[in-house]
Order: sequence, then structure tokens, then C-alpha cells
Amino acid sequence: MSTTEKVRVHPFEAAGHGMAPFKFRYIEEIVFVDTQGYSHAGGSCDYCGTLIRWAYWLRSACGKDFKVGCDCVAKTHMPGDTLLSVVAREEKNRKKAADKARKELRIARLYKELDDPEMVEVLQGLPHPHRPDSIDHSLHSYITNKLRVAGMAGKIECCRMVEPYMLPDE
Ligand SMILES: [Zn+2]
Repeated sequence: MSTTEKVRVHPFEAAGHGMAPFKFRYIEEIVFVDTQGYSHAGGSCDYCGTLIRWAYWLRSACGKDFKVGCDCVAKTHMPGDTLLSVVAREEKNRKKAADKARKELRIARLYKELDDPEMVEVLQGLPHPHRPDSIDHSLHSYITNKLRVAGMAGKIECCRMVEPYMLPDE
């Protein structure tokens, strides 16, 4: 380590957010909803002032709390910092949760469609993917059997097969 590195002050410290090291406390989603009902980033980064949706609340070694966006954690990374890995982990968890929620919505829609007699009729008129010549088996019997035993991945596969026959959401 060179002398210049040793005396380098953490950017958050230089900005008046207390003394390094900084610890991650929690992540908060800050949004504001406009008159149309759309949500937008509703917070601002205490370091750079940018609008942020996901605020990383940090605490300095001397107990000062402040919030920054994930980009600023990356931008201000210094050797020995643990914040970057914390943020990476949080972002990964958040994406995983969002992905799971999206899949659950897709599956819920599939079940709803399968309750619709019109959709049942459409699927009954389509060939079974593995027994295309069978008159006893249809895409409908394939899907309903598969859903009985399928996990998340199998259910999503069913979504993919049925979605082309669904009407677009209004
Ligand atoms: Zn920032």
C-alpha cells in the first residue's frame, strides 16, 4: 500500500457523512405515485443527489445515518470496503424476489385461463406435444397432467405453451 492510498479519505467521509468504515443497515424502496398511478423513484442519494428508488441506508463508524443509491456504493468503493459485496447480495436477492413474483403472476394467469371453457376448448383441439397423433390426448391433457406434478420451472413451461392462445391483457 502506498502512502497516498493510506491517507485517502473515503468519499462519503469527505462529503460529511461521518467517519469510515460505513456499515450497511437496510434497503428501502422509496417511490412516489403520480396521478396516473405510475410509481417513480422517490428518494434522493445523499451523496450525489440523484433520484433513487432503492435506498441503501448506511451508518458511519461514528453513528451517522444516510442513504445512497447502489451506483454510488460502486463509485466510491475503496480497498477493504465490504459495502460493495453487501449491495451485490441485496441486488441479487431483490432481482430473485422480483423474478419469483413475476413467475407467480404468470402461473396465476395460466390457472385462471384454464378455468375458462373457451380456452379449454382451444387447448383440447391442439395436439399433445409428445403424442401428436393421439385422439385421446391433447395439449389440454398434457398441460393439466403436467401442472399436477410440476414445480415452478414446469409450470412456467406450461405458461409458455398456453400464452400464445391467451388474449392480450386489456
Ligand atoms: Zn449517489
